[in-house]
Parts: sequence; structure tokens; C-alpha cells
Amino acid sequence: MVIAIDGPAGAGKSSVARAVAEELGFTFLDSGAMYRSVGLAAMRGGRPPAEIAPRVRIELSGGRVELNGEDVTESIRAPRVSEAASRAAADPPVRQAMVAMQRRLLSEGDWVAEGRDIGTVVAPDAALKVFLTASAPERARRRAAESGAAVEMVLTEQAIRDQRDRTRAHSPLEPAPEAVVLDTTNMTLDEVVRRVAELAREAIKGL
Ligand code: C5P
Repeated sequence: MVIAIDGPAGAGKSSVARAVAEELGFTFLDSGAMYRSVGLAAMRGGRPPAEIAPRVRIELSGGRVELNGEDVTESIRAPRVSEAASRAAADPPVRQAMVAMQRRLLSEGDWVAEGRDIGTVVAPDAALKVFLTASAPERARRRAAESGAAVEMVLTEQAIRDQRDRTRAHSPLEPAPEAVVLDTTNMTLDEVVRRVAELAREAIKGL
């Protein structure tokens, strides 16, 4: 079964999804890491992401990310890669390749998957769909605290990325109609994890 956690950058999806997966004994899927890997491969190879996406080998296991056999767990977090990933993710052939890969993974086992389009496109039959949000300044503050960058700079880059994710023609960032929308602006990580785990347990019971 699949628990889908979508939302914009900095809403806490990764931390929440990872913790909820651990609590339920499910596997965590970080779909953003896949788009980041394609962005990185395109940056390095100087080829368009659409050409690269159907051929890359991306392995996600034990919290590590491998791109064609190379550990890229840290390098995909660089700000330039965030930007390249967001541009690559607006390209329909890239999305098609990533969605196919994600569906293959999710077809077996129990997952907490996080991204932008898990509940809307990748796993429309997910047992639970959560859409995490927080105010833009709060999201920027969290990301800056994580990376050590200046809040103002993160806020500016985040606005560009948010705008692109929300307005792209294919799979724009939006909550699935039946998603539980959770504004985490004034919640601690623990509170969010508890709430999502509770919703997940209710969903599992109801199956
Ligand atoms: O979540 P993360 O910041 O790692 O994602 C990087 C980029 O990949 C996002 O800005 C977004 O453009 C894209 N993405 C997406 N669909 C997903 C996951 C990520 O478009 N399911």
C-alpha cells in the first residue's frame, strides 16, 4: 500500500515521510531525489534532461542515492542541482520516465512516498494522501537552517521554484481532491509526524 505525501519545497515532506515510514515499518520513497539525479546528470553531461531521463539508473536504498552506480546522496542537494531538477521536472518526457520508475517501485510492498504528484499522478489509488504546506517564510527559514544559507536567498530561489512547480503544464503542484491538507507553519516536526502516522493508521484500519 502507498501513503502519499505531497507539497512544496520546505514543507517538511522528507523528514515527515521518513519518520512516518519508520514508525509504520514501511519503505520511504524520495521522488525528488530522482528528479535531482536527472538534473545532476544533465548538468554534468551537457545533454537535455529529456534525453537522459529514460536511460539513467537511479537506485534509492538505505537513505543513499546512486546515479549510474555513483553515490550522489550529497551532491544532489547543491542549490544548482535544485534548480536543474526543477527545470528538468517541467519537461514531460522526464516526468513520464520518472513516474514509470516510481510506479514500478510502488507496485510491490508498503511505502510512504513523498513528492509533488504522488497522490495526483503516480499513485492515485493511495490509501492516504496528505498535502503538507507551510507559509513561504517558514519554509525558507527551515531550508536555510538545514543548509546554512541566508534566509533571504533561500526565499528568492524558493519563490522561483514554487512558481515553476505550480504553473507547469504537466502535473502542476496541487493537492489531490481527497488529500488531507496540513498546514505545518505552527507545528513541530514531532506534531506533524504524530498527526500523519495517526491518519495512516486510520487509513490502514479502514482498508
Ligand atoms: O523535493 P525536492 O526539493 O527534492 O524536489 C526537487 C525538484 O523536483 C522539485 O523542485 C520539483 O520541481 C521536482 N519534483 C517533482 N515531482 C516530484 C518530486 C520532485 O516535480 N514528485
